[in-house]
Amino acid sequence: MTEPSASTHIPTLQRITARESVIGTDTVIRRALPSAKLRTVGAWCFLDHAGPVQFAPGRGMHVGPHPHIGLQTFTWMIDGEVLHRDSLGCEQLIRPGQVNLMTAGRGIVHSEDTPIDGGRLHAAQLWIALPDSQRHREPCFRNYAELPALDHGGLRVTVLAGTVLGMTSPVQVYTPLVGIDLLATRAGTDELPLDPSFEHAALVLRGKAVIAGEPLVPGELLYLGRWRDTLVLHSEADTQILLLGGEPFTETPLLWWNFVARTQDEIEQALADWNQGSPRFAPVPGAVTAPIDAPSMTGVRLKSGT
Ligand code: MN
Repeated sequence: MTEPSASTHIPTLQRITARESVIGTDTVIRRALPSAKLRTVGAWCFLDHAGPVQFAPGRGMHVGPHPHIGLQTFTWMIDGEVLHRDSLGCEQLIRPGQVNLMTAGRGIVHSEDTPIDGGRLHAAQLWIALPDSQRHREPCFRNYAELPALDHGGLRVTVLAGTVLGMTSPVQVYTPLVGIDLLATRAGTDELPLDPSFEHAALVLRGKAVIAGEPLVPGELLYLGRWRDTLVLHSEADTQILLLGGEPFTETPLLWWNFVARTQDEIEQALADWNQGSPRFAPVPGAVTAPIDAPSMTGVRLKSGT
């Protein structure tokens, strides 16, 4: 069977309300993925939107050492700074306009702290599910200090991952996907070309926009489905939008706590390794807060979603 063409297929539209959650001690974020209605957009399987927030004097974000497997954590820094430390010994301050990419593979531990209490924070943290061929690989970490960007109509387009408008991000991913930051430099209507074989979703990070005819403000993810070759956006000035896309992920990732796997046994093994202090999850040199306790899996039967 051949895939339907963009002209014969009606793309989906679905709104997903992000839910508030707390990371670290008391940093409130909005989690748009995964949701009951939508597990993945391409291999993007997790999306937290943090801020914009101005921390009170003496306060900040402090997420103590915790393990990951089977995924890449992808941090897009918009405002403020976060200090990443991991069990490989990497210590990296991420600044606005930069991406931190941690490839967990078989296992890694990291901590994330705002370096100055009383500062600002605005960031998106995403997870990318690794395909089977990569999910047991050795872990690694990289900071990307500069991403390709250009002005396209009234939009400043920054390519965080994948390729758009002839620009390709250096961020190393292992499945066909795209991540784009759109900043409206003036109020107006713009068009962006899309790969119709990808499914896409958009999240307003600040401001207001009408995307594919749907009004959107921060706090809601708009799932756009597949088969679109163009996205029409009407934005107010200074509106910032995160656009995600990818080939629908054909594997079925199983998410629990900070782990992405395929079976409950794999998750339970990772949990046991973390709880027992296995060398799979080494200490984080220089960590300023205590490691995070995993929740209990007693009585938990994970259902794999799609
Ligand atoms: Mn993490």
